[in-house]
Amino acid sequence: MHTILLTTLNARYAHTALGLRSLYANMHELQKSTTIVEFTMNEQIQSITEDLLKYSPKIIGIGVYIWNAAQSAELIQTLKKVSPDTIIVLGGPEAGYLPHRVDLSKADYIISGEGEVAFYELCKKILSSRHCGLDPQSKILNQVQDDKQPHFIKAPLPDLKAINLPYSAFNDEDVAHRYIYVEASRGCPFECEFCLSSIDEKVRNFPLDQLLEEFEILWQRGARSFKFIDRTFNLNMTFANRILDFFLSKEPPYFAHFEVIPDHFPEVLKAKISQFPAGSLQLEIGIQTLDPEIAKGINRPLKLEKIFDNLRFLENETSAHMHLDLIVGLPGESIEGFGRNLDKLVSLTHSEIQIGILKNLSGTTLSRHDQASWDDLQRYTPL
Ligand code: SF4
Repeated sequence: MHTILLTTLNARYAHTALGLRSLYANMHELQKSTTIVEFTMNEQIQSITEDLLKYSPKIIGIGVYIWNAAQSAELIQTLKKVSPDTIIVLGGPEAGYLPHRVDLSKADYIISGEGEVAFYELCKKILSSRHCGLDPQSKILNQVQDDKQPHFIKAPLPDLKAINLPYSAFNDEDVAHRYIYVEASRGCPFECEFCLSSIDEKVRNFPLDQLLEEFEILWQRGARSFKFIDRTFNLNMTFANRILDFFLSKEPPYFAHFEVIPDHFPEVLKAKISQFPAGSLQLEIGIQTLDPEIAKGINRPLKLEKIFDNLRFLENETSAHMHLDLIVGLPGESIEGFGRNLDKLVSLTHSEIQIGILKNLSGTTLSRHDQASWDDLQRYTPL
């Protein structure tokens, strides 16, 4: 019986949702009645609704992300129209922070933060209240409920050494045809204002030995495409070295992707990176800006000389495929200033440069600059 569904709309088929698998791995006795059903954001909402409701679920948990927020809002509204008694629980960065950019008000519950403990606890309460004949949409949690708004639940921070790892939830099709998303840590020690990771409390690590055992099992099953979602993979050298050693001990071909900060490549890390054969290592490097004043304005550390040295090393002495991120639209930055950053970056690398447009994400402190700009306008512009 599929009492609980975990679903999301991935950007493309090759992407797998690690968040759904992490929730599934921590459903304990409810796991046998929980099923993961993934879609892509290009599928029709009506057919997604039909597919989900075929399971006659009591609870649907939906992961809402920046790339699928609009489609998720439509999906929630359609689900609630067709099956108003199905309880909808939202999680993910686009649901967990207010204000929402899209209308998610038809959902019953929103979990803010890491949901491994909170989602399981909520499902238990919902199912037991149904079992007792209570109305799960208004009676559980003993809270006064505004009927029109979902309950907002601030999730307790899970202990990463105590929760179950999600890797056995990747099925054979995932292993054979899709990226396996993995994480060795959560959080970031930096506080760049535009980034949701800046509000994480601290960096927390998963137990490394256990993690490497899981990677070995995945490898033995045939997995060869690993994407690490750690925000700053190259900060903890113990972790980085052992994980890189794991791959270096394997026979290519394989593909390992890491997100790294550009100013921290100690010699030991450089030595390992230069051993990776062509096509096996991809580094996503967050440059964002090369202007010290702009970086200071958004609270982002910027060690230019180290960045330039490291990019030259990666470009000239390794086979790593680099993917460099630059943001256009940072507070205080002119288009000419952005152009100078881009020119400088192009002079340093032949690698792929991805230009992202600044997003004012709920939960970040970036909008304080809107107020500053507005104050300036009021001071200088006659109204
Ligand atoms: S942009 Fe990168 S370094 Fe800055 S807070 Fe976010 S994850 Fe951390």
